[in-house]
Amino acid sequence: MTIKQDIELPAFGKTTVPTGLFIDNEWVASSDSKSFSTINPATGDHFLDFAHATEEDVDTAVKAARKAFKTTWGMNVASTERAALLFKLADLMEQNAAKIGALESLNSGKGVRIAREADVADSIACLRYYAGLADKLHGQTINHFGKEKFVYTLHQPIGVCGQIIPWNYPLLMWAWKVAPAVAAGCCVIIKPSELTPLTALYLCDLVVEAGFPAGVINVLPGLGASTGDAISRHMDIDKVAFTGSVPTGRRIAIAAAESNLKKVTLELGGKSPMLVFDSADVEEAAAWVAMGIWFNSGQDCCASSRVYVQEGIYEKFLTALKAKAEACAIGDPADEKTSFGPLISANQRDKVLAYIESGREAGARVVTGGQKWPQSGGGYWIEPTILADVKADMKAVKEEIFGPVIVAASFKTEEEALELANNTEYGLAAAVFTNDARQATRVTAALDAGTVWCNQYALLHAGVPFGGFKQSGIGRELGTYGLDAYTQVKAVHQNLSQTM
Ligand code: NAD
Repeated sequence: MTIKQDIELPAFGKTTVPTGLFIDNEWVASSDSKSFSTINPATGDHFLDFAHATEEDVDTAVKAARKAFKTTWGMNVASTERAALLFKLADLMEQNAAKIGALESLNSGKGVRIAREADVADSIACLRYYAGLADKLHGQTINHFGKEKFVYTLHQPIGVCGQIIPWNYPLLMWAWKVAPAVAAGCCVIIKPSELTPLTALYLCDLVVEAGFPAGVINVLPGLGASTGDAISRHMDIDKVAFTGSVPTGRRIAIAAAESNLKKVTLELGGKSPMLVFDSADVEEAAAWVAMGIWFNSGQDCCASSRVYVQEGIYEKFLTALKAKAEACAIGDPADEKTSFGPLISANQRDKVLAYIESGREAGARVVTGGQKWPQSGGGYWIEPTILADVKADMKAVKEEIFGPVIVAASFKTEEEALELANNTEYGLAAAVFTNDARQATRVTAALDAGTVWCNQYALLHAGVPFGGFKQSGIGRELGTYGLDAYTQVKAVHQNLSQTM
């Protein structure tokens, strides 16, 4: 197993990329020399083999991270220094943005322009946001004890953190995890998805160039059931942060509880409802809903996957949404014009097709799409799809599809709309489209979701917290809440006068 390999990168030609494990600022092969394969989702062809981190490798990385935490990082370095290193890493990413975007596009299938202008740019913004926050971390003074004593709190880094991320936004999820953790003074062992490990590994040489001490950021490619489980169960990891599916989140929480009761934050799935009321601007609402469901080909945890439209404008809305579906720029991820790429794998494509079929069989009307894109070749495209006139008990309505499929139904009253929207085990995101200000206030308050957009959708920002109600997760990422998730509060009591 070689730890660097050459690939043909569209627009860049022959490019050397890392395929090993990154531990203690060094590239190494896995301890048992095993590897795993990845596939190019746009062609179905073999892409690259990556080193597979064993339990022993996880342990080696944890030891390196613990050593760094105790010596060169954690509370041994000024927060301004942590900020400076994050700013430097962001600058290096910016200088290499075109290449990083091309690598992200090649591995994940998303359009190269989207990868560069959204994924890479938002990741850089996330790094800069947390760099700016790193030296603004402080506790409180609690001085209502008179001459008796003086109490203050310290917000200290949690320690060594395991981080496990999915394939839909490989780079952005890396940024959401690594930036707040290292800003807070934690050291990390991050496991990218086995489907998309390339960009997290590519960044490691930039981590070294930026000047991060060895052991602060370690990247371990590997499978979930082995490498991911070893991270979740490790007795010297203080916290695990996860983004992915509900079943995996549950497994990680159990592993954490069964080992050292490490702290857990989970960002899980969604089945996010959109409510479009009679007073809304139909064209505008359809544009936001279309972006919400078809951005990243529907592989988005807060995809706008259910839309409920007031009956007076239902057909008009479906017509507008169908036009947006048909205008999606489907195509080769390497083409600058492409905004709608293939799904990540044959597995994911088949899962999505099965949901479409189940909806059709249960009586849903296929307004548009509903099949593989005819020009897919060996790749995994599915056309943007609308299933209308759905019923609450259909599988395609209840379960997360994680593909470019939106289900639609009409409603009569605001009460009925809220009932339909909140009838789910998820609670990640929701939206309301209305031009009635009082209704907007009432409905946003009543929706069970961690993020609610009003007359907008899908726009996230590093400074705004993100996370789920119900089974969509535990804890919050981004904003100051995201930094809190990597710190622990210590209360210090200073005796001023009391004697025993
Ligand atoms: P997944 O849960 O299968 O995998 C996510 C990560 O967990 C991968 O790195 C995988 O290797 C790892 N993993 C798998 N089994 C594990 C185990 N037993 N122990 C430890 N780690 C393990 O999810 P996925 O298929 O990569 O992503 C799709 C799902 O993730 C969707 O359901 C989607 O809703 C959800 N998701 C949520 C968010 C969010 O922010 N809430 C973001 C992206 C994806």
